[in-house]
This record gives sequence, C-alpha cells and structure tokens, in this order.
Amino acid sequence: MRTLEQFNAACNAIAAVAFTEQCAGKIDLQKLVYYDIRRNFGLSAQMTIRAISKVSEAYKRDKTLQPHFRAHSAMVYDQRICAFPGPDRVSLLTLDGRAVMPFRFGRYAEGMLARKRGQCDLLYRASSATFFLAITVDAPEPTPDEVSDYLGVDLGIINIATTSDGEIVNHGPTQIHAHVNTVRARYSRLRAKLQQKGTKSAKRLLKTRSQRETRFVRDTNHCISKALVSTAQDTARGIALENLKNIRTRITVRGKRQRRVLHSWGFFQLRAFIAYKAALAGVRVALVNPAYTSQTCSQCGQCAKANRHTQAKFLCQSCGYACHADVNAAVNIGRAAVIPPNAAPLVTSAG
Ligand SMILES: [Zn+2]
Repeated sequence: MRTLEQFNAACNAIAAVAFTEQCAGKIDLQKLVYYDIRRNFGLSAQMTIRAISKVSEAYKRDKTLQPHFRAHSAMVYDQRICAFPGPDRVSLLTLDGRAVMPFRFGRYAEGMLARKRGQCDLLYRASSATFFLAITVDAPEPTPDEVSDYLGVDLGIINIATTSDGEIVNHGPTQIHAHVNTVRARYSRLRAKLQQKGTKSAKRLLKTRSQRETRFVRDTNHCISKALVSTAQDTARGIALENLKNIRTRITVRGKRQRRVLHSWGFFQLRAFIAYKAALAGVRVALVNPAYTSQTCSQCGQCAKANRHTQAKFLCQSCGYACHADVNAAVNIGRAAVIPPNAAPLVTSAG
C-alpha cells in the first residue's frame, strides 16, 4: 500500500513538472525529473521509469490539463519489478525490497497462467480492501483456416448484429428477453431526469448509473461477439464485416437519430471484441466495402436506393424479392468477402 501511494504521489509530482514545462515525451521528462523523483520518493530506478511513462501517456492525451492521479490509482509492474516464482506466488518490488505474496485466480484465468506473461497492473479496490493484479498474457493465435464461405454480419442500430443466416443478435447477457435498445432507452430517460435535477445526490446516482451502463454495453458486446465467433467456428466459415472506416458514413444515410445512437453505442468495442475472439479461435475475418450493401438485392444483384423500402424492409424493384433489410445486407456482406478479385462488381444503377 505504501509503495502504491508513493508511486502515485511521484506521478503527481512528475505531472506538475510535465505541465509547467509543457513536456510530454518520456525521454525529455526523464531528463527533467529522474534524480529528484528517486531521491524524494524513494522509488527504484524501474519504478521511476514506469511512473514517468504513466504520466507521459496521461499528459499526451490532453495537454491542456495537468494529469492528476488518485492515491490508489493503478501501478504498472513490468517484468523487471515483478516475477512469478510459483504458480500461486507473485513477487513484487516494494519500497522495502522484493516481497513474495500468495495470490488467487478464477477458473477462467487458470488456463492462462501457463502462458507467457507480460506487464501487470496492480489495482486496489477500497470497497473490498483487496489488491488485484491485472496480468497481460500472450495468447497463441492459430493461423486462420482457409475458408470458402463467410458469415456476413451487419452491424446496426435497431438490430445490433444481423447475420447472413437470418439470425438477429440483440440480447445482453443478463436480461435474456430485454432488447438492448430497451435497456438503453431506460438509461437514457433516467439520465435526462437526473441531469435536470442537478443535485449532488442526483449527480452521484448518475455516475453509478453511467458506470453500470458502460458495463452493460461491454457485457453485451462480449456476449454478441462470442455468439458470432462460435457460429462461424462451428460451421467452418470466416466472418465478414463492413469496413468500419466507412460505416459511419453509411449509417448517416439511415438518419440523424440513429447516428446519435451509433456514436453512443460501443460499435468500435464490438468490432474489436469480434476481431480478438476470432483471432483466438482461428476464425478468419474479412472486411468488405460497405458501399451499396444495404441497397443491393441479394437475389438478383440489382442496386437501387428505392430497394430499401423502409428501415426494416427490403423490397427489390427489379425482381420483387422481399426480405428483412438487415438480413439482406448481411447476405451481401458475406458474399462480398468471397467474390474473387477479378469477378465483375456488384450491379449498380442510378437512383
Ligand atoms: Zn432483386
């Protein structure tokens, strides 16, 4: 505890120098503060380096503010100051030298401990008076199998994820039957009410609720990405997604109100979760150009704006094919991933 507090006190001292000198670079900062910090705070050489790098990263994010670190903010332990002498023992460098401590881990982490360990974050939770060690591990990523078929996934607002199999994945982990948008709408209404109130207790409640909402989004994204990856893995397919670089422009077409929701929903997080879960499972991920995926008929290939009958319905003006709009888009996305490079592009027409 003393080490953690001293580390963060040192970070605050470094932050003051970084801010007054407008100095964010690690090397420059090190020249300015290294000896003073070691002398004044009694940190080891490597701890001092870690503190400087923590301040540098925080200050780089916003140079208009002097970063402030809470007394029990996370402390970084790299391999030089942290070791694992036994399966349930960790050795951490403290102000009084190395200390070997027992630690416990959950069943999920058990299999991970055999893996090569990298950097750790030492965290302290005052509510349970417990220290946590967040350990980075190197996970083996199998070479993705060659696939001839892709599961197309359309990410949207009304439906968070729709697959080319016609499956719509909207559900969070806990409220089995609650559509994520129902839950989000509830949070949004509550937020508006609390912001209007503006009292101290309302602000406190708002903070707890927004943390809870962040957790809900993350849990839901874990759930959805896991379901998608296991569907692809079980059927020996890859996963095709729209190239996210363009997704916001495409969604603009679908309306202002939705764009607002898109920015608040963790779409980048969902995509990142799909990518890393797929990599661990050896599932190939293909990114396709999202142009026209929502306007093109997945049956005859005709492309026209009018095909997108309503938000939810796709109706082909050429062949009369009717389908759920997101499913139609997902089929196009899945198919775009397997089209050989020299094949003719999707048929497009003005309109
Ligand atoms: Zn058609």
